[in-house]
Amino acid sequence: KAETIILDRTGINRALTRIAHEILERNKGVEELVLVGIRTGGDHLAAQLAQRIAEIEGVQIPLGAVDVTMYRDDLGSRGSLPMGKTDIPFPLDGRQVVLVDDVLYTGRTIRAAMDALIDIGRPRTIQLAVLIDRGHRELPIRPDYIGRNVPTSREEKIQVDFDEQQAPVEVSLVKP
Ligand code: 5GP
Ligand code: MG
Repeated sequence: KAETIILDRTGINRALTRIAHEILERNKGVEELVLVGIRTGGDHLAAQLAQRIAEIEGVQIPLGAVDVTMYRDDLGSRGSLPMGKTDIPFPLDGRQVVLVDDVLYTGRTIRAAMDALIDIGRPRTIQLAVLIDRGHRELPIRPDYIGRNVPTSREEKIQVDFDEQQAPVEVSLVKP
């Protein structure tokens, strides 16, 4: 198994800081802004973005998490996976929601996450931030904020490592 490092801790931190600024610029500040991370991986990155936004704007914006395992339309082909917890303890009506995930691939997880959000409320907008876009989309979904585009084959995998504090430390490309 060959492993190529794509982003080290510094590279990840720079990308997240840039994305935090892009989110603030696009949404003209923090008003109505909420972050929702997709478990697992996206929730840790959403927390990182919330922390940066707090440092820049001095405001702690609402931070939620969704688990969309049961919403995915191709579950049958993957077998049933345990369902994690969805935790959005604030209203979504009229909010600018930024969904956050670690890796974007076919887009099916994001479609499912949008379904879950719309079951909860009526956001004004739903935007998408991902650390890595590895291509191979099967749905008309594209990220608004991207850490890094990494062209991959279907056999390759992106590995995102987190430390014990759930801070991202390394992104690598793993060839089979
Ligand atoms: P999709 O639903 O777009 O096909 O896949 C995206 C979801 O599966 C994300 O939540 C992501 O965590 C996970 N995923 C897909 N491909 C990869 C990958 O290469 N590496 C990692 N770490 N996660 C992936
Ligand atoms: Mg994930």
